[in-house]
Amino acid sequence: MSEISMRHLEEKDKKYVWHPFTQMMDWEEEEIVIIKEADGVYIKDINGKTYIDGVSSLWTNVHGHRKQKIDEAIKNQIDQISHSTFLGLSNVPAILLAEKLVQITPPGLDKVFFSDSGSEAVEVALKVAYQYWCQKENPEPQRTKFVHLKHSYHGDTLGSVSVGGIDLFHKIYKPFLFETISVPSPYCYRCPFSQTKEQCSRECFGEFARVIRQHNKEIAAVVVEPLMQGAAGMINQPKGYLSAVSDLAKNEGIVLIFDEVATGFGRSGKMFAAEWEDIKPDIMALGKGITGGYLPLSATLFTKDIFNAFLGDYSDFKSFFHGHTYTGNQLAAQAALTNIEIFEDEKVLETLSPKIELLAKRLESFYELEHVGDIRQVGFMVGIELVRNGNTKEPYEAGDKIGIKVIMEARRRGVIIRPLGDVIVIMPPLSIDQSQLNTLLDVIYDSIKLVTSNA
Ligand SMILES: *Cc1c(COP(=O)(O)O)cnc(C)c1O
Repeated sequence: MSEISMRHLEEKDKKYVWHPFTQMMDWEEEEIVIIKEADGVYIKDINGKTYIDGVSSLWTNVHGHRKQKIDEAIKNQIDQISHSTFLGLSNVPAILLAEKLVQITPPGLDKVFFSDSGSEAVEVALKVAYQYWCQKENPEPQRTKFVHLKHSYHGDTLGSVSVGGIDLFHKIYKPFLFETISVPSPYCYRCPFSQTKEQCSRECFGEFARVIRQHNKEIAAVVVEPLMQGAAGMINQPKGYLSAVSDLAKNEGIVLIFDEVATGFGRSGKMFAAEWEDIKPDIMALGKGITGGYLPLSATLFTKDIFNAFLGDYSDFKSFFHGHTYTGNQLAAQAALTNIEIFEDEKVLETLSPKIELLAKRLESFYELEHVGDIRQVGFMVGIELVRNGNTKEPYEAGDKIGIKVIMEARRRGVIIRPLGDVIVIMPPLSIDQSQLNTLLDVIYDSIKLVTSNA
């Protein structure tokens, strides 16, 4: 591309485009990166500069960019058909994908509902959970409340925002949100009960259990991001936490929803986070990595028991009256199917495990840096919380823009990452090799060191 047209692209972006989760006033001042192509873990901008894709293009990419098998599968699908409606019609890749998803997810999840984004997958989970209580045998329509963790993030549509717990994103919409019950999350570095890891007697879970027992008859479902609350700043849960939540929900007869939009498809080191403690949720939401990072698609899986509550005569109107124009899109379904086949064919999880160990080992050295407060890792998901004072855990001011400065420094050095406030996120494609992973970590280490010693 010529020099002149590249400059024009930047001007046109600033003139016409509104970017998500972005302060557009800053954006207009910034030198922006416009991506043009990619190969494996590298993405390349219109000036020909290459970067390691350190957050997998927002946690989606799995086997690298331009993975030949997925490219070809999509091209072949295009030669057949790109889209036909899933309302009243079916299609080949979506059927095969549904079967595959049922096979690879925890036992008991037997029915698949497709949508286009993680937010919608959660929205579907919430709507179905409530409608289930209304339509089951011995209905309990008074169960209108959802329980969720503080700091949770389940998406940006109003239903998924209602069960969200990040004030910065969610507070302003309060007048439009339904009422929920929020319980403390196990943010151990900043324990809401001022405990240390050594003394922890799981007060946060105690509060969770107390609330559920007190409100049981009003509660439709509990929704959690298993193992790691992602967008909150990578807040990982202590071992045993999920089993405790699951046992509680099962004992109290409340629907358990796992939002595995971020943790699914190998991110945690197993295919799904639920597998670590052998949990069988009643509903599971999937997105992000489901197509290997290629196309927008999400899915919500349900038990037969929940599904059966929607069966009845046409005139009973028990159907799930919900769906999107592009539900079950063939290209996306074909990409997802091929993504899952690659996991099996290339033994992706086996080759991932030494890389997870390498990552853990390398991360230990980050504690040498004075302003690294906490490092949280679950598989190939990492958050490094930067603090002004490591002893008191005093955070930086928002105006310090410390996270943004670190990622800008990393960008100069050929790495694309995106922070969550003062938490530096590391989430490379699962296909990254050890030497690329070392380079990625070197750059992030040096960028944190440089920026925090000058701040
Ligand atoms: C990203 C995310 C969502 C929302 O997915 P979108 O595709 O952005 O709508 C929901 N839940 C979790 C846990 C996520 O990380």
